[in-house]
Amino acid sequence: MRLLRAAATLALTAAATATALAAQAPAAAITAIRADRLIVGDGTQILSPVVLVQGERITAVGTAAQVTIPRGATVIDLRGHTLLPGFIDAHTHLTSIDNDGGDLAALRETPAHGAIYATVNAEKTLRAGFTTVREAGSLGYVDVAVRDAITRGLIPGPRIHASGPALGTTGGHADVNGWSPFLQLPGTGAIVDGADQVRHQVRLNVKFGADQIKIVATGGVLSVGDAIGAPQMTQDELTAAVTEAARLGRKVMAHAHAGEGLLAAVRAGVASIDHGSLVSDEAIAEMKRRGTYLVPTLIILEEIVHDGAAKGVPPYAVAKATAIAAERRVRLRAAYQAGVLFALGTDATSDIHGRNGEEFKYMVDILGATPMEAITIGTLNGARLLGVDRDLGTVTTGKLADLVAVAGNPLDDVSRLAHAAFVMKGGAVFVAPAAAR
Ligand SMILES: [Zn+2]
Repeated sequence: MRLLRAAATLALTAAATATALAAQAPAAAITAIRADRLIVGDGTQILSPVVLVQGERITAVGTAAQVTIPRGATVIDLRGHTLLPGFIDAHTHLTSIDNDGGDLAALRETPAHGAIYATVNAEKTLRAGFTTVREAGSLGYVDVAVRDAITRGLIPGPRIHASGPALGTTGGHADVNGWSPFLQLPGTGAIVDGADQVRHQVRLNVKFGADQIKIVATGGVLSVGDAIGAPQMTQDELTAAVTEAARLGRKVMAHAHAGEGLLAAVRAGVASIDHGSLVSDEAIAEMKRRGTYLVPTLIILEEIVHDGAAKGVPPYAVAKATAIAAERRVRLRAAYQAGVLFALGTDATSDIHGRNGEEFKYMVDILGATPMEAITIGTLNGARLLGVDRDLGTVTTGKLADLVAVAGNPLDDVSRLAHAAFVMKGGAVFVAPAAAR
């Protein structure tokens, strides 16, 4: 009892001190950012903008005529630049750095390697202007640990939405296949068979910190011996994943390239189809009806086709990618032109980390998106898919100050988005052009 009373007194003292400190503390310094142009993220733009930032939030947005820069504010002058919301990559693999096709890395490396790679890749990704990423599955909950280290300020990196291990079936894209049954090999994800095991793994992932659930619904490009359109989870397993994730307040992202497996994932109610390479007309109609996002990961397959062999991608994977490349462009464009919602995702692995912004150019070339539409896909749409559009996705008063600037006008040349000259995350500057420092 005496202890309790002492604790209560301590708590009261601490509260009083905190109040006194808050009363005395000066208001957080104000930063004013000027640029030639602001692309808001919702399809609109403001010329000669001023954005005020206080602490981690945006406190004013408007034209230079509308927003008065307070006396004493730090001014960042991005003359000659276009300001945009922090970019969002809805499909990354920060824990990967190898070119050897995944399977062999699984034989040689541990999640500890992934943690070190992720530390390097997280900084590259942030410096490319990507202030938020959705990690698409990692063993050992490395993505959770890296997310927490970034949140604590131990290492620089984007805001990470972690998946924990991806859920896949025995012999599927998340398994390591083609080896002797006498070798005990872990999967590249969590191997689950049947609805009960799916539910158990969803609960484990949420217990250990996952922000969303990643499932593998069809075969893949880099996996051995599975057709890309082959369904790998039953409707029962897919529904169990979505239902259990929803019960725990989580969305599901589904790796799916084509066919019945893709359609089954959409019908189960996943939030996004990732890759979607050969999405059918039937699936397009169903995705439109349900508001399912398509995250097309354009750069990865284009690069495997064009320089995969030179970069050491295994021949079976280059062959799989080449076989679908032309038809993929037709099907993804059809989905975009039909009005399916898209979010930007690169599937960043190996040397794509830090080059995430090149995805914008492919969205214009392959989907037929305008540069402005591509920017909305890479900002507001990503925020909506991740469920964070109250705080991110547009440059709006009250939202978190995640801002990027590129030289010139990206509406004239979308490839400019691959070269971030200024990056701010939560009001802290990580990259600035020499003239603005
Ligand atoms: Zn992926």
